[in-house]
Amino acid sequence: MNIEKLKEVLQDQPKFRFRQCYQAVFFDFIKNWDEATNLPLSLRVELNKNCPLDINSEISESKNKKTFKALITLSDKEKIETVLMRHGNRNTVCVSAQIGCPLKCKFCATGQMGFIRDLESMEIIEQVLLWSRYLKKYDERVTNIVFMGMGEPFLNYENVMQSIKLLNDHQAFNIGARHISISTVGLVDGIKKLAKEDLQINLAISLHATNDKLRSELMPINKEFHLTELFRAIDDYIEKTNRRVMFEYLLIKGINDSERDARSLAKIMGNNKLYLVNLIPYNPIESGLGNKFKSSDNRTIEKFMEILTQEKVNFTQRYKFGKDIKGACGQLAGKE
Ligand code: SAH
Repeated sequence: MNIEKLKEVLQDQPKFRFRQCYQAVFFDFIKNWDEATNLPLSLRVELNKNCPLDINSEISESKNKKTFKALITLSDKEKIETVLMRHGNRNTVCVSAQIGCPLKCKFCATGQMGFIRDLESMEIIEQVLLWSRYLKKYDERVTNIVFMGMGEPFLNYENVMQSIKLLNDHQAFNIGARHISISTVGLVDGIKKLAKEDLQINLAISLHATNDKLRSELMPINKEFHLTELFRAIDDYIEKTNRRVMFEYLLIKGINDSERDARSLAKIMGNNKLYLVNLIPYNPIESGLGNKFKSSDNRTIEKFMEILTQEKVNFTQRYKFGKDIKGACGQLAGKE
């Protein structure tokens, strides 16, 4: 889908045609221009030729039929992954912001594959379009978006924001900002920029460790932005927006899951009502480096949660979605 190309084809058409086409694609989620019966036949033919709507993708589904992963092949043959999670009355789409990722977090499959390029805003949108079309047969729409797929959204800030505008648009996806979350490794510049936007999107920070030594080992970006600086930016963000911030905390066996770790997490969270911890079970990844991390065992996780409860930390636990199709957090690597 290329908006510029669409405008070019519609050059000699009455003005309202653009709106009609835009709605057909981004609100009615047509797969082929033949479905846009409000357009003249000759125009439909021309649009099919010059602005084809196909998305080259392969979908796999998890055993419980709640999680779906799609591998999309882009026009330059690069591949990205996106995940749909159907739960309750929600349909959450996890989108990728980059092909690969330059940040090299030790535990993440995308980080291990290296960086290829940023996605265009339309390539981000294409992922949501694919699932919107998929859900149409159940008469359902995408309700929530999380920027938690491949890549670091704040390294592709402008394109991510541009895609959010289209996701918000009432005449397009119509997904409210409060239903959109961006997850970041904690790029301070991005957090500062987001604080200035007049947008009610949710911010999630991948924390994973509560001291600089361990965090720098796991997430090299921490060497650039230490925890003190990160928390200063987060607190400024909260002051400006009065919005809650979610802290993602992976539980990795023997690395960050001890009782001491739980206490130090509680300490860093203090009694801040606007901090929320999201505990994520570690999903094993395959990597060329030989992955040495394992997920924490259940007893350790229970103990960890017990301490957080005692210390009155607000926390939730993330479900394991789509592990069997390698569509769970940190497992996306653009492979068949
Ligand atoms: N770059 C962004 C967004 C993508 S990752 C970020 O890091 O926040 C989305 C979430 O999945 C992050 O919290 C990330 O730390 C987590 N994650 C990465 N690898 C994982 C793994 N192997 N198991 C579980 N979660 C993982």
